[in-house]
Amino acid sequence: MAPPAAAAAAGEAAAQDGKGRRRRDCAIVGARLLTLGVQAAVMAAALALFLLFAATAAVLLLHLVVAARAFRNQRHGGRRYRVPQDYPSPPSCLGLSPAELRLLPCFAAAAAASSSSSTQLCAVCLESARAGERWRALPACGHAFHATCVDRWLARAPACPVCRSAVSVSVS
Ligand SMILES: [Zn+2]
Ligand SMILES: [Zn+2]
Repeated sequence: MAPPAAAAAAGEAAAQDGKGRRRRDCAIVGARLLTLGVQAAVMAAALALFLLFAATAAVLLLHLVVAARAFRNQRHGGRRYRVPQDYPSPPSCLGLSPAELRLLPCFAAAAAASSSSSTQLCAVCLESARAGERWRALPACGHAFHATCVDRWLARAPACPVCRSAVSVSVS
C-alpha cells in the first residue's frame, strides 16, 4: 500500500518541514531579539553619552554665566570707583584742581643776564629759567618751578617736588 505510506511519509516530511520552519523562525526571532537588544544597548550608551555631554555643557554654561556676572560686577565696580576721579572738581585728596592751581602765586622769570637768577633751575624739567617764562613759587617752602611743570605735578600730588612739603590752597 504505497499511496497511504507515501502520504504518511509526505505528512511526516511536512511535519518535519514545519518543525524545521518553526525552528528557523525561532532562530530568526532570536536573532531579531539579539539585534534589538544590541540596538537598545547602543541607544542607551548614546543616550548616556548625550546626557553626559549635556550635563557638562550645562555646568560649563553655568560657570560662564557666573564668570560673566562677576566680570560685569567688577567692571561696574571699577566704573563706580573711577567716577569721582572724572568729576570736574574732585575733593582734592589726590592733587590740586585747576581752580586751586590758579590761586598759587605766579611770576614772570627775570632775564637770565644777572648771575644770581641764572642759577634758578626748575626741578621738574631740569631746565634753567629764561626771561619771560611763567614761574610759580610754592607758598609753603618758596621753591619755584615752571608754572606748567609744577601745575602738572601738583595736579597729581599736592606736595613740593623738591622738599615734599604739603601745598594747600584755601579756596574762599
Ligand atoms: Zn620746568
Ligand atoms: Zn619745596
